[in-house]
Amino acid sequence: MVQGVGFRPFVYRLAQELGIGGYVLNSGAGVVVEAEGAARSIDILLERLRCDAPPLAVIASISVADIAPRGHQGFSIVESDLQTDDFGQVSPDVAICSDCRREILDPGDRRYRYPFTTCTNCGPRFTIIRSLPFDRATTTMAAFQMCARCDAEYRRPADRRFHAEGNACAQCGPGVALVAAGGEVPAAFTRMAAPVLTDVTRLLREGAIVAIRGLGGFHLACDATSDAAVGLLRRRKRRPEKPLALMVRDEFVAARIADISGAERKLMAGREHPIVTVPRKDRSVISNAVAPGSNTVGLMLPYTPLHVLLFDEGLEALVMTSGNISEEPIAASNAEALDRLGNVADWFLLHDREIHIPIDDSVAHLIDGQPRVTRRARSYAPQALDLGTPVTEILACGAELKNTFCLTKDRSAILSPHIGDLSNYETLTTFERLLGHLRKLHRITPQAVAHDLHPLYISTRYAKQCGLPAVGVQHHHAHIASCMAENGVRERVIGVAMDGTGFGLDGRIWGGEFFAGDLGHFDRVAHLRYVPLAGGDAAIREPWRVAISYWRDAFGDRPLALPVQQARRQLVETMLDRRFNVVDTSSCGRLFDAVASMLGVRHEVTFEAQAAIELESIADRSLDDEGYPVVIDDSADPWQIDFRPAIHHIMLERDAHIASARFHNTVAAMIVEVCSRIRATRGLDRVCLSGGVFQNVLLTERTVARLRKRQFDVMLHSAVPCNDGGISLGQAVIANERILRGDIDVPCHPRSDR
Ligand code: ZN
Ligand code: ZN
Ligand code: FE
Repeated sequence: MVQGVGFRPFVYRLAQELGIGGYVLNSGAGVVVEAEGAARSIDILLERLRCDAPPLAVIASISVADIAPRGHQGFSIVESDLQTDDFGQVSPDVAICSDCRREILDPGDRRYRYPFTTCTNCGPRFTIIRSLPFDRATTTMAAFQMCARCDAEYRRPADRRFHAEGNACAQCGPGVALVAAGGEVPAAFTRMAAPVLTDVTRLLREGAIVAIRGLGGFHLACDATSDAAVGLLRRRKRRPEKPLALMVRDEFVAARIADISGAERKLMAGREHPIVTVPRKDRSVISNAVAPGSNTVGLMLPYTPLHVLLFDEGLEALVMTSGNISEEPIAASNAEALDRLGNVADWFLLHDREIHIPIDDSVAHLIDGQPRVTRRARSYAPQALDLGTPVTEILACGAELKNTFCLTKDRSAILSPHIGDLSNYETLTTFERLLGHLRKLHRITPQAVAHDLHPLYISTRYAKQCGLPAVGVQHHHAHIASCMAENGVRERVIGVAMDGTGFGLDGRIWGGEFFAGDLGHFDRVAHLRYVPLAGGDAAIREPWRVAISYWRDAFGDRPLALPVQQARRQLVETMLDRRFNVVDTSSCGRLFDAVASMLGVRHEVTFEAQAAIELESIADRSLDDEGYPVVIDDSADPWQIDFRPAIHHIMLERDAHIASARFHNTVAAMIVEVCSRIRATRGLDRVCLSGGVFQNVLLTERTVARLRKRQFDVMLHSAVPCNDGGISLGQAVIANERILRGDIDVPCHPRSDR
């Protein structure tokens, strides 16, 4: 990744210093340097290209060819070469750098308080790019003519803003406008932003909800310390309980709200500035309505100059949640926001730097000391992942919730940013638009399309009507393959998929799976014993229904005390008795739901995984034992993992904090035991952990520590989500493998000569 990061000026300066002649240019494939000079100087150049590259540059490889001397006089930067079919990378957006931050806060600087300040080391990229290569003319900044001073910066190779495509100042760049709900997009925007930002700060202090246009779309903002403001936002956004992300002024404010480790601080302040989920302090100024029932909170630091300036007015912590209603895509254009968010926000802080591709904030947390991305979006996408080997051009459509798609070309996988819940029309429109855009940017013509086996997923239906050879991929095989691809593993592994819902090869709902296999094939060695669930999707929203299933499974007819109307329970029991609208499931996510409800933690949920999150939150972490007994029947094929003995013990436990901790320990111990038996029978000792359940920090850290103690080689996700956001990557590498093995015929095979 060498475009828009100051790479050419870096090469230019190096060449000047070393007395080398020639040129440097950006092509769609990367940077091309022609260098002519003393052999020793050329060696140093090659060495320093690697070692001293600009902070945002990523060099995948350097290939060198000798050519005859041409007699170059001096060194130059040549304008972009557009005529190439090769593969170039699109830089993700980058959080504001320390130099730009200093300038906007310095009264003596010409960019003092200018909210669209950027340079080659920071600012918008992917969100403003219309086509490649990355040049001012191909971005939405083409609408702004640079003033003489900006233009001089842009042209001077020694300047930090040399070819900074988003370069702007208060004389020539984008401006802001403050509009009340019900208003229209104004005809003019002001570049004198300071008074407008002062007004916004005052409105927020008074308890207003302000829709703020940022880098990838609108946020809905309100004062995070006000119960009234947060409550109002929740009602209007129709989001009763799901945690709301906060933006805080700086790391000192963050440290007053949460217990933040050095590694977490580093993640928050890094070039991506994701929302980082951190342990919340018991008492802080933050409203309890921000993340009810959870002992964590999602914090991010200001990542655009606009945000920095807002907080410079004295604000400390704002709720900054995606500008949408429930799970719809984020609003990005001014007109769309005024239209869609008119009933949510009181005021709109608009700007006129158009967002070509909307993108949500990324979400990450630390597990086992390393950053793990759970929502891969702003500043991570669309950075390509290296697959280590040439692949066929493939489109993989992903799953349903947290949908992403994946495109492959050459030896790279481009995972789309988080799209959302692919069950409504708006999200499908976003999917198609983003797919068209990324295909065009990277000039990809898929030869095959991969999809989930669930026949009702919109992604599956989309794939089947594409007119391409279609490859159905089992959901949990895709999870494991995604983990393998991310870790560069091709050999056979033990795959552990602990997950919510995934369509199985037998038509049942899988989600507590142990595989032995590779990208091409897997054996289902073991799974959680099937338990019948009544009511399909209703069971996911109402864990008490799941509790009844697991209770009856363990105790037969003995009644379970539940705060649910008798008639409603009766209905569920009748359905189970008659096996009407009943599905069998081996889902680990449902097991967590059942235990949460049985312990009285949570009987109904308003967002995905709420019960499991609350169960994890109450666990007594000081208790690190082997948990409750579980029976593993390895005489059956696949082996059956029976949690009934554990359920019996859980119901005898008096303290829910203890029961929750022991339950987590039970699942961890079960995983280690099953893996040990698989190692004994199959000789595999590398374990890949995937599936949404591994977002559970307590469970994952305990599992990893215990597997390592038994000398297993443990692989986790890091830049790719372990949840369904990572499914499309797994589908793509599996489809590629099947094409390689000749199982699927495609018109065009990968170019193995490169
Ligand atoms: Zn900068
Ligand atoms: Zn200017
Ligand atoms: Fe899944």
